[in-house]
Amino acid sequence: MLDEQKIRADFPILSREIHAGKKLVYLDSAASSQKPSVVIDAMDHYYRHSNANIHRGVHKLAEEATDLYEQARKKIAVFINAPKQKQIIYTRNTTESINLVAQSWGRKFLKAGDLVVLTQMEHHSNIVPWHMLVAQLGIRLEFTRVTPDGKLDLDHFKQLLAQEPKLVGFTHMSNVLGTINPAKEMISLAHAAGAITLVDGAQSVPHFPVDVQDLDCDFLAFSSHKMLGPTGLGVLYGKLDLLRQMDPFLGGGDMIKEVKFSGFTPNELPYKFEAGTPSIAEAIGIGAAIDYLSELGMDSVEVHEQNLLTYGLERISEVPGVTVFNADPRNKGGVIAFTIGSIHPHDVAQVLDRSGIAVRAGHHCAQPLHEVFSIPATTRASFYLYNTKNEIDAFIEGLFAVQKYFMAG
Ligand code: PMP
Repeated sequence: MLDEQKIRADFPILSREIHAGKKLVYLDSAASSQKPSVVIDAMDHYYRHSNANIHRGVHKLAEEATDLYEQARKKIAVFINAPKQKQIIYTRNTTESINLVAQSWGRKFLKAGDLVVLTQMEHHSNIVPWHMLVAQLGIRLEFTRVTPDGKLDLDHFKQLLAQEPKLVGFTHMSNVLGTINPAKEMISLAHAAGAITLVDGAQSVPHFPVDVQDLDCDFLAFSSHKMLGPTGLGVLYGKLDLLRQMDPFLGGGDMIKEVKFSGFTPNELPYKFEAGTPSIAEAIGIGAAIDYLSELGMDSVEVHEQNLLTYGLERISEVPGVTVFNADPRNKGGVIAFTIGSIHPHDVAQVLDRSGIAVRAGHHCAQPLHEVFSIPATTRASFYLYNTKNEIDAFIEGLFAVQKYFMAG
């Protein structure tokens, strides 16, 4: 069990007041999480005591900065149970990690007519990089259907696998439906069909234990800013043989072993994929975030969010006119996307904001998924380890107020 009050005290922003004295109720962690003091302090301490560029210097500060930066890589490897630290590539975010796979693996190993299978519930960041390969190489894309109740249609997935795709990419957990896909089973089926697998872990790694060896995924992408760490730092995990075969993504300093006027020799892993001065303070920040999450235990984080979700789904069903997209708490993370009658989702979010309740409205970078449900937008409340049932009550009270305000008129 998580100690709610103790956890909340670790997050300075949660004691902020909004709109003249309203308590902040932050229900937008699927977009970006808040940061505990230990993360803010680790980055602050780095800038005050050890700031220098990494790898290139022989002086004390450069050595300290390099150690801290590499220690964080080790923490990430342990957190997702990667066999080796060099399988952890630092990027800027999930989006860049997926683009890296598309450009470095895709451009080398895919050709015109090859099939990539994605799903209808992907975030734009796991669609557009593949659209770009359609334009660049002439590959084909197919999207596994989503059922009307917001689950992946596994029969359709199997039908698509029969077409022998070269790569299967899917989100571990949908940022709109909250649906947690059966990743291990899907990866095993994809491998049996001869495909390599890319898991978008942007919404899974922050919220429940993810073990890359157990999943047996070929690539896993995620972002620091959704798991209590800073923005500007993403991760790509990859299997060693694949990473070794791939060409560099970006060119420049650090990613080379040797440069001549006639060409270059790429560096060893993971540096081959880390061109230029990286996000050093941010790596140290995610290291602190991982320490914090590990101390709480990801199993406990998952249980806490599951309790909030079950309670939230029960309570929201009391509000007249609400439609929840995937209202089944089983295999679902702490995300509730909904509409209330014909009230515009932005209006819902705006009225809630006046009471200090932060939710998001729009297509949540999953426009094709909204098209499947024939709606332009939803309002989304999302939970994390620092949220409480009292906050869900405040949110529901806010929805009743929205409902009255718009429906009465
Ligand atoms: N995939 C999913 C499922 C997400 O929820 C997000 C962020 N909303 C992303 C990818 C993209 O993450 P980032 O913006 O950090 O690259």
